[in-house]
Amino acid sequence: MEKKDSCIFCRIARGEIPCYKVYEDNFVIAFLDVNPASRGHTLVVPKEHCQDFTSCPKALLDHCFEVAQTIAQAQIAQLGATGVNVLTNVGASAGQSVLHFHIHVIPSYREQILGLKGTNLQIEDKEMLLLQDEIKRAI
Ligand code: AMP
Ligand code: ZN
Repeated sequence: MEKKDSCIFCRIARGEIPCYKVYEDNFVIAFLDVNPASRGHTLVVPKEHCQDFTSCPKALLDHCFEVAQTIAQAQIAQLGATGVNVLTNVGASAGQSVLHFHIHVIPSYREQILGLKGTNLQIEDKEMLLLQDEIKRAI
């Protein structure tokens, strides 16, 4: 079995697994993180499988960061974020748990400072749908 058959982000990109999608084009999909560090925490994911930042083809990498910038602008414009963390983990020791390259775009609000440890923020489905809609509207 090929990696992309079982890879969760490949499966989301193919539409086999549902997600709170905020953006999609031919090369990239962006959706809310189901275990968010803050309200509106979004993942930008290339549709083509590659393991991480270091192995992503450069043109695709550029495009992913362009989309990440658009998402960050939308979070500031629409969610009232006062800051954004943009980060990508490479390898298990750096905290990468899904071995398909992705960029975290994590809005922050007022003086909230993102620690590198996860939070236990719980967001109900209804609010996730609202956040999804608000980001989509600003793209
Ligand atoms: P990382 O730990 O940098 O590999 O980030 C992987 C992220 O993917 C984590 O923040 C997870 O909460 C998130 N994640 C895992 N499965 C899903 C899914 N099915 N839909 C949305 N986000 C997911
Ligand atoms: Zn994949």
